[in-house]
Amino acid sequence: MPFAVTILGNNSAIPSHERFPTAQVVTYEDELFLIDCGEGTQMQLARYKIRRNKIYHIFISHLHGDHYFGLIGLINSFNLLQRTEPLHLYAPAELESIIWRQLECAATILHFPLHFHPLQVSGFQLIADLPHLRISCFPTKHRILCFGFLFEEKPRHRKVIPEKAREAGVPLSFYKNLQQGEDYVSATGHIIPNDELTLPPPQPRKYAYCADTLYDEGLIPYIAGCDLVYHETTYLQQDLHRAIERFHSTTLQAATLARKALQDKGKLLIGHFSSRYERLEDFENECRSIFPETYLALQGATYFVGTPWKARM
Ligand SMILES: [Zn+2]
Ligand SMILES: [Zn+2]
Repeated sequence: MPFAVTILGNNSAIPSHERFPTAQVVTYEDELFLIDCGEGTQMQLARYKIRRNKIYHIFISHLHGDHYFGLIGLINSFNLLQRTEPLHLYAPAELESIIWRQLECAATILHFPLHFHPLQVSGFQLIADLPHLRISCFPTKHRILCFGFLFEEKPRHRKVIPEKAREAGVPLSFYKNLQQGEDYVSATGHIIPNDELTLPPPQPRKYAYCADTLYDEGLIPYIAGCDLVYHETTYLQQDLHRAIERFHSTTLQAATLARKALQDKGKLLIGHFSSRYERLEDFENECRSIFPETYLALQGATYFVGTPWKARM
């Protein structure tokens, strides 16, 4: 079951050095989830041949423009393209009136249902309970109300070993029970334990998106045990004072948090780079000095959640 993240934009506020503001697409099976929608997101979806009509859920972390200025354009395009499927939008409450005001001024009538889910101010919250995924939000420390998102795969079934099941004479109709962990009792009353006929399911995978934030150890309980964590690194360590002033994080801060939360398991994906830097190598190098499994969030690249780890450029 593919579970991956594709980066559409990795820059902070002002688009520069051919880097777009924040947006990324999470893929699970063949469903797509858009996280943040900075200016130019539509162009990036087209450039990387991502099928926007597969997006049913959009998550907006906060109302700084570099995270949502592309949203009204995308909604408008859905409408022009005769979308009829519902769209679920999860965002700070104020966004609802902003979107409707923009549509109203253009006398736009949507042909599809737009379901708005306001994010609650306090604590960790489940916001979407889908067949294979649970998606929750959690608060981050930023200049305005801001949320991170956690994508957790639901536990999967045990895997039947067909040769073993055939050998034991298990009828096909019982395979579902085997997947649920039941033992098989043969016609002669002989019990064959489930673990002789099946393999355990893979560990459920987890991805966390930490949005814009100051260094905050309060995030650790939300992101601990993740296979992949995205954390902003707006600044290199030499610009720590700027990071603090603007409620952002540096390389060493992101890497320190990853080391505390993930220990030596998961991977760290870094982005939201300030326009003051043209080269990105230093970001990766600084983070790797503390957390070796750090990767730059590069536009157009896809990073798989869980093992085997791979990134596709
Ligand atoms: Zn931002
Ligand atoms: Zn921000």
